[in-house]
Amino acid sequence: MEISNQRYCIQEIPLLDVAKKYGTPVYVYDGEKILSQVEALKQAFSGVTMKIKYATKALSNLTILKLMRQAGTGVDAVSIEEVQLCMHAGFAAAEIMYTPNCVDFEEIKQAVELGVTINIDNIPMLEHFGTEYGPSVPLCIRLNPHILAGGNAKISVGHIDSKFGISILQLKHVLKIVQAYDLRVVGLHVHTGSDILDAEVFLKGAEILFDAAREFGQLEFLDFGGGFKVAYKDGDITTDIQDVGKKVSAAFQQFCKEYGKELEIWFEPGKFLVSECGYLLVKANVVKPTPATTFVGVDSGLNHLLRPMMYDAYHGVVNISKLDGPERVYTIVGYICETDTIAADRKLREVKEGDVLAIKNAGAYGYSMASNYNSRFRPAEVLLLHGRDHLIRKRETFEDLLKNQPTVDL
Ligand SMILES: *Cc1c(COP(=O)(O)O)cnc(C)c1O
Repeated sequence: MEISNQRYCIQEIPLLDVAKKYGTPVYVYDGEKILSQVEALKQAFSGVTMKIKYATKALSNLTILKLMRQAGTGVDAVSIEEVQLCMHAGFAAAEIMYTPNCVDFEEIKQAVELGVTINIDNIPMLEHFGTEYGPSVPLCIRLNPHILAGGNAKISVGHIDSKFGISILQLKHVLKIVQAYDLRVVGLHVHTGSDILDAEVFLKGAEILFDAAREFGQLEFLDFGGGFKVAYKDGDITTDIQDVGKKVSAAFQQFCKEYGKELEIWFEPGKFLVSECGYLLVKANVVKPTPATTFVGVDSGLNHLLRPMMYDAYHGVVNISKLDGPERVYTIVGYICETDTIAADRKLREVKEGDVLAIKNAGAYGYSMASNYNSRFRPAEVLLLHGRDHLIRKRETFEDLLKNQPTVDL
């Protein structure tokens, strides 16, 4: 978002005009930012065969998936529905990694029939897979290296209490099953959690994965998951993608040499690719002074952006209706009947009723976690690309609230 002609713009398109045209609340995505993030990641790993498997769950709008495909990424899908969405968006089965956890084996069978890469997350499922398919279907195994990473306990998935992956401490057991069923393990996977700070965390995970990989003879790729950290506020430490690229590539090349084969290195970024591209535009319904705080109540809330309440996430907020004038301290809250703080104690240009606020970093885990709580409609989504605005999802209507509820005569 930049200021041009005294207005907040993306690709020279004034955001206020987008709010006016589509109404609020509305999710707006800067497609050029998505493309430049994909490019930055490719650049950082230009020395190795790297594949991006975009984490669909971060933002699963069909048009965004199509944009990713155009940009040359594959996808990581965590449910059979995401697999189907990705195929609908044009991804070939071979470009789709399916990383479920705690699903019924029937869902894994469905994924096998669709031909996507299967990532197995627990030992009973591995045995089940062996009984069903033996060596006939290649697979990937998700390991948990028990590395603590992640800014919040809820998104830290590598620790000892985590439900994700097969513990690295169970490797011997895994190897026995692989041998007993003659399984064709073509990939190993780790995803230690969101918000990885630096190359060191990645390298620690990498070393553990390399050690495990030496036990498997038919590998084609190693998948390091997602978790690259992006800035949510000024001064945030972010993943230095160039530095991670250089160090991890060097370690990976060294490993491939020892392994005796050029493997592919895979990543599954969600936030890195789509967090910063997104803005949730909301309207100030009320400015309400109370003894301790001045609240700005907006026409959205945790039904549309859950992250502040769910993860204590920080999202920058800008009053895009005002370019200058005095700043005041506000707490921005939603219209949901529930404590619903979007941002506490923030300095914004003086807010008047009707002003439009832009909530930043709303691309990842924004719309995809939205609900109809309080029977509110989910917002519209708009993609800005090559200087043009595209409606990529309509705002819901009353019909949508009714549509799966048959009329019952009582
Ligand atoms: C959620 C998830 C990701 C993406 O994590 P980000 O923090 O958004 O990069 C990648 N891989 C798997 C398996 C995931 O569940």
